Amino acid sequence: MNIADNYRKILEKIPEGVKLIAITKTKTPEEIMEVYECGHRHFGESKAQEMVPKKEELPDDIRWHMVGHLQSNKVKYIAPFVSLIHSVDSLKLLKVINKEGRKSQRVIPCLLQLHIADETSKFGMSFEETCELLESEAYKAMEHIKVHGLMGMATFTEYEEKVAGEFRQLKNHFQEIKKKYFAEDEAFREISMGMSDDYQIGIKEGSTMVRVGSAIFGERQYT
Ligand SMILES: *Cc1c(COP(=O)(O)O)cnc(C)c1O
Repeated sequence: MNIADNYRKILEKIPEGVKLIAITKTKTPEEIMEVYECGHRHFGESKAQEMVPKKEELPDDIRWHMVGHLQSNKVKYIAPFVSLIHSVDSLKLLKVINKEGRKSQRVIPCLLQLHIADETSKFGMSFEETCELLESEAYKAMEHIKVHGLMGMATFTEYEEKVAGEFRQLKNHFQEIKKKYFAEDEAFREISMGMSDDYQIGIKEGSTMVRVGSAIFGERQYT
């Protein structure tokens, strides 16, 4: 199967209202263009230093999503163009994004990443930390970021019921946070959950964005 076929097969399984973000890490511009030529425009990377050269080489109408853990000192490279940062995992990082958004004269769309998996290697805030962030004076004063929803990564396991339970928990957190802080805010509506191995579970549990890499482009070779 080629990349375009993989892409079309996956797109068929994604209902209206759920956005597919094609994750391009380690993949070449030629490979990415196979999906672009199918009409796809939403692509994601997990590293700023990989996103920037691809953005420069590839067509201008691509919407770039940052999905990986973002170091504060890398924000400045993507702030002028990034379409959505899925992986905001601290107030400190959000402050830097706000500062860089001001420099670029933009409001940068963000998702707050919650830790829902067992692995401590995965990033993300607890529900309580997320509430603290949203209640802080620093957050309330920010004019160059906009929080559109939440993101989470499930535990890497074959056990689907466990993954479904973690996604359900994220959905519950989303509803609570929506009620508490964003009741009047239409823009707070995204739940980014689901990757190649679990996007169908994510969709079943209420995902609005799935981040799919290897199921489209094939396994990644890290050299
Ligand atoms: C790499 C990555 C993905 C895509 O992973 P696949 O399993 O290849 O679909 C999704 N989200 C994040 C945060 C990633 O780093």
